[in-house]
Amino acid sequence: MKCNCEQHLNLELRTVMYTRSVMIRHVPVLVCDHCLTYELIPSMRPDLKKCVDLLGPDPSNTSFSLADYHELANLIYEVMTEADYSEDGLKRKLEYEIQERINLLLDLYKMADRMHDIAWVGELRNRLSQLSVILPEMNVFQQMNEK
Ligand SMILES: [Zn+2]
Repeated sequence: MKCNCEQHLNLELRTVMYTRSVMIRHVPVLVCDHCLTYELIPSMRPDLKKCVDLLGPDPSNTSFSLADYHELANLIYEVMTEADYSEDGLKRKLEYEIQERINLLLDLYKMADRMHDIAWVGELRNRLSQLSVILPEMNVFQQMNEK
């Protein structure tokens, strides 16, 4: 994915002011070094809203890390704090880690399903759906149509 100025967009974690009072840390964004602008990954926008909605109408805790609430943000955070990757290295590492995380969650999902643990199944379904967003920059697209 490219910026309007035709420069390459880089994946970074940023602190984002969601509203005047809500600040979200560790949000994966696409950054243009040339224009110094950044944008949210479009497919993450609804998830971001869901996390903010969890705060309620009059939140007392107005600053939080998305890595604590969102599977993909969590994974990107872990990978990025672990080492300084080149752009290609980061892409490969993320693709690998996303696949690994999906496999892990699917295993847990099967277990939860066997135990008829409805709440756990729901939680895992949600975490899997958060990983299934498209990262346009990286061409990562995981389709989660498993029953
Ligand atoms: Zn640009």
